[in-house]
Amino acid sequence: MRKKIVAGNWKMNMTKEEGQALISEVVNMAKDEVNSQVVMVLCPPFPHLGYAKKMFQSQANIFLGAQNCHEKTSGAYTGEVSASILKSFDVDYVILGHSERREYFQESDELLKLKVDQALANQLTPIFCCGESLAQRQAGSGFIEFVCGQITQSLFHLSSEQFAKVVIAYEPIWAIGTGLTATSAQAQEMHAALRKHIASQHGQKLADEISILYGGSAKPSNTPELFACPDVDGGLIGGASLKSRDFIDIAK
Ligand code: PGA
Repeated sequence: MRKKIVAGNWKMNMTKEEGQALISEVVNMAKDEVNSQVVMVLCPPFPHLGYAKKMFQSQANIFLGAQNCHEKTSGAYTGEVSASILKSFDVDYVILGHSERREYFQESDELLKLKVDQALANQLTPIFCCGESLAQRQAGSGFIEFVCGQITQSLFHLSSEQFAKVVIAYEPIWAIGTGLTATSAQAQEMHAALRKHIASQHGQKLADEISILYGGSAKPSNTPELFACPDVDGGLIGGASLKSRDFIDIAK
């Protein structure tokens, strides 16, 4: 059975007070409402990582994630945070390759490969994001190959043992923060293609064990249908993760 994962990507939102209030609401509601088999990951901005874990230590299915890490181990990289620093703050997951980082910070497939290596070397689970642009989708063909190519470029150097530790998040760029969601048929088509692509490199058994999340304007009204798709194993949630009620309803 693959893990069902609902991860909240807060992006650059939430002051300390707002973050603490959100986490305490999520923790309290999760206790009563969310099946303990569902893995919940909270990915706040870096400064929140220092205190956040303590707020849900007693809750075995809630984990802490960062939104990025640097590709080097340590050194003179002002403003950056390494995977080993994250690990020392009890971080469990790290989002890598989000389309906003690819676009605004010029993160290439090649650079992401190094970040994935750093994450794995420090026992962090990468949530590796991939997805096509609106123009690629509208071109009508080639977008599945493009997204599979992102996986090839940044992840296919890994051994099967390493690959088994990665979580994939398919996030069509045209659906992120736009209110446009992929239909469940579009999501299922891509997720199945990604699983087949992974199977071609690592075999069906491993491919069947990899959690592939959907992201892009996911909200309580559309996640039941998306999550019912056989190859959709949860979601990477942006905007809706900033509201405890919505995030919990999605996890439910
Ligand atoms: P959204 O963001 O849910 O606000 O569209 C998802 C993401 O970018 O991870």
